[in-house]
Amino acid sequence: AELELSKNGWLLDIEKLTLGENIGEGEFGAVYEGVYMGQRVAVKTIKCDVTAQAFLQETMVMTKLQHKNLVRLLGVILHKGLHIVTELMTKGNLVNFLRTRGRSVVNSVQLLRFSLDVCEGMEYLESKKLVHRDLAARNVLISDDNVAKVSDFGLTKVDSKVSDKAKLPVKWTAPEALKKEKFSTKSDVWSYGILLWEIFSYGRQPYPKMSLQEVKDKVEQGYRMEAPEDCPPSVYSLMRVCWEQEPRKRPGFHKLREKLDREMEKLSPG
Ligand code: ADP
Repeated sequence: AELELSKNGWLLDIEKLTLGENIGEGEFGAVYEGVYMGQRVAVKTIKCDVTAQAFLQETMVMTKLQHKNLVRLLGVILHKGLHIVTELMTKGNLVNFLRTRGRSVVNSVQLLRFSLDVCEGMEYLESKKLVHRDLAARNVLISDDNVAKVSDFGLTKVDSKVSDKAKLPVKWTAPEALKKEKFSTKSDVWSYGILLWEIFSYGRQPYPKMSLQEVKDKVEQGYRMEAPEDCPPSVYSLMRVCWEQEPRKRPGFHKLREKLDREMEKLSPG
C-alpha cells in the first residue's frame, strides 16, 4: 500500500505540515487543524501501528474518489503511526452546525440544500458500488461556504463501530444490517432516512428517549419515528420510503436525488 501511495503522489512530507489546534476527537486519535504548503487542512492522527496499516489500505480507496460532496483526501503522512490529511471543513459536523444555529438562523431551503448535498455524495458512492455503513449527520462536515460533504467513506471497514457488531450505530443501521450484517447501498439509504430526520429536527438525537434495545425491537415490529416539527410532508414521505423494512422497496440515491431536486424547485424556483 505504501509503495502504491508513494508512486501516485499521495505520500506527503511531514516537514511541510504545521499542526495547529485540536478540532476533534476521533475513535483512534485526535483531529487537528493544520497548514500544508499554504493550504488549510485537517489532520487525523492514528497512533496505533496495526490500525494505521489497516487505514493505509483503506485510504487507497479514498484516493480514487473525488466529488464535491465528499471530504477530499489530500494525502497521508507516515510518521509515528499515520496522519490522514484532508481538506479543512471549517464549520464542523452537521449535528453541531444545526444545534448551535437552530431554526432562527437556518431556513428550510438550507436544510433541503444539505439534504441534496449529502444525497449527491451518496449517489456518487452508489455509482462506484461503495457502501458507507456509517452514514449519519455526525459524519457530514460543513465547508466554509456551507457545502455539506460526507466524510469517513472508505474508512468504515476498519472502523470498529461498524466492523464490530456490538458497536454498530443502532439508531442509524438498517434492520437487515443489524440482524444479518447485510450491508448494501439500500442499508445506506435507510441511514440516509435517519440523517434526513436529523437535519429536519435541527440535530436532535434520533428516537429520543428510547434505549437501543427498544429501538431494535420496535423498529423490527414496524415502529417508525414521527415527522420532526414543521417538516414538509413531502420530505417526511421520503424518510418513510427510506425506512421500508424490505431493502428492495427503498429507492436508490439516484431516485432520491431526483425527488429532492423537485422539492428544491418547488421551494426555491430557479
Ligand atoms: P471518528 O470517525 O473516528 O469518530 P471523525 O473523523 O468523525 O472521527 O472526527 C471527529 C471530529 O473531528 C468530527 O466530528 C469533526 O468535528 C472533526 N473533523 C474531522 N474531520 C474534519 C475535517 N476534515 N475538517 C474539520 N473538522 C473535522
